[in-house]
Amino acid sequence: MIKNLENDLKHPLDGKALFKIIVSKGLCTGCAACVTACQALGDKTIEYQNGESLPKIVRDEECRECRLCYTVCPQTGEEITSVEEDYYLGNYRKFEILQATDPEIQTRAQDGGVVTGILKHLMEKHYIDGAIVSTAGNDWFPQPTIAQSIKELLASSGSRYSVSPNILFLENLMDLDVDHRYSGFNDENYAFVGTPCMVKAVQNMKKINLKIIRKVKLTIGLFCFENFNHEEITRRLEEKTGTKRLDWEKLNIKRRMLVYTKGKPEPFEIPLKELHDIVRGACNVCLDLTNFGSDIAVGGLGAPKGYSSVLIRTKTGQEAVNLALRGKALGGIPEIGPERRNIYEKALRSISNTAKRKITTNLDRIKTKSNITNTPSRRELI
Ligand SMILES: Cc1cc2nc3c(=O)[nH]c(=O)nc-3n(C[C@H](O)[C@H](O)[C@H](O)COP(=O)(O)OP(=O)(O)OC[C@H]3O[C@@H](n4cnc5c(N)ncnc54)[C@H](O)[C@@H]3O)c2cc1C
Ligand code: SF4
Ligand code: SF4
Ligand code: SF4
Repeated sequence: MIKNLENDLKHPLDGKALFKIIVSKGLCTGCAACVTACQALGDKTIEYQNGESLPKIVRDEECRECRLCYTVCPQTGEEITSVEEDYYLGNYRKFEILQATDPEIQTRAQDGGVVTGILKHLMEKHYIDGAIVSTAGNDWFPQPTIAQSIKELLASSGSRYSVSPNILFLENLMDLDVDHRYSGFNDENYAFVGTPCMVKAVQNMKKINLKIIRKVKLTIGLFCFENFNHEEITRRLEEKTGTKRLDWEKLNIKRRMLVYTKGKPEPFEIPLKELHDIVRGACNVCLDLTNFGSDIAVGGLGAPKGYSSVLIRTKTGQEAVNLALRGKALGGIPEIGPERRNIYEKALRSISNTAKRKITTNLDRIKTKSNITNTPSRRELI
């Protein structure tokens, strides 16, 4: 995407190009794909700085200049200067508005609980052995994990609006052996949940058939308008609401940031423009709201309360949704006929308009190279 920046390089084939053109320019999404790929090769040249959500070269002299980190990074590749209106939502086979039928998932989930609902059904029926997801404790610090039990899966539901480098956990799959009920076909299957940039990195790994990605058979992508660093967003929300993170029950973004606290039915509401200065720099040049690379993309946008909007993009995604529907793990809106069609059309319009807003604003920033310097770590780096 940021190809024009490669011109800044004296040696474009330098293995450390990634750091020169992405990280040091504040364009790193914090996905951790570079670190995972490097370490999976047995190299320990880069490490992940979890607090800052950035990679860092720690053993410069050990870099083999193999460029694998550069290849898997979601921020490298062709620069995009325009997006056709038809492509605001990406390619998809079917659009649905769904919710999980399990009451426990409905209580815990961010929107309709579709992500957890599908994963739970696939795990219970042994179609997958686990899922790479994100979880968090009372301090809301997102932690990647591999959920292999329903308890672990339920603990992962809900959204944390800061970077969770779920890709870091791919390496753990390499040594993970799970008893499979179909012995003889013991090829373990895992699902991966992530933001659009993370799913793009997963796709980049799949394109070159990296060993660490082979067990990932299904990607469930989240819609994502923007993201933050954990400490900054938490501190800012504490300041704005006069509450402490330990008191928060749920955070949600519905035009405004909503902070639900224990014992108070109405949320605190913070206009998003009051958070704009702490949005990560990479998000200001990101052109993907609806997770183009995923098998199934899920968001709250457009859907009635308690439901999720679901863009089913691939055959694998369709099969997973069909299994969950047939197993009654997911259900649709009760409306039928023209009323149902209206709800679907309105939802798609709302998603498309928001995607257009993100894409046009960020294309403008890319063209003018303006306003992409908000990642605080960048200020430290230059
Ligand atoms: C940073 C961020 C920005 C988002 N922006 C939008 C938006 O602009 N519009 C919109 O419609 N939806 C957005 N979403 C998606 C939305 O918040 C819900 O995740 C989505 O609607 C699925 O809801 P659900 O009830 O089906 O998911 P649930 O069943 O509650 O499952 C949520 C899944 O998200 C994973 N997860 C939670 N936090 C993170 C994280 N930080 N990084 C990676 N995975 C995580 C969990 O592991 C879990 O598997 C965003 C999500 C994130 C994390
Ligand atoms: S070029 Fe290769 S060895 Fe060097 S940091 Fe990147 S992946 Fe690691
Ligand atoms: S975007 Fe991901 S792959 Fe690229 S530099 Fe940042 S952490 Fe590494
Ligand atoms: S806005 Fe784009 S770059 Fe930022 S977290 Fe979401 S998908 Fe990643």
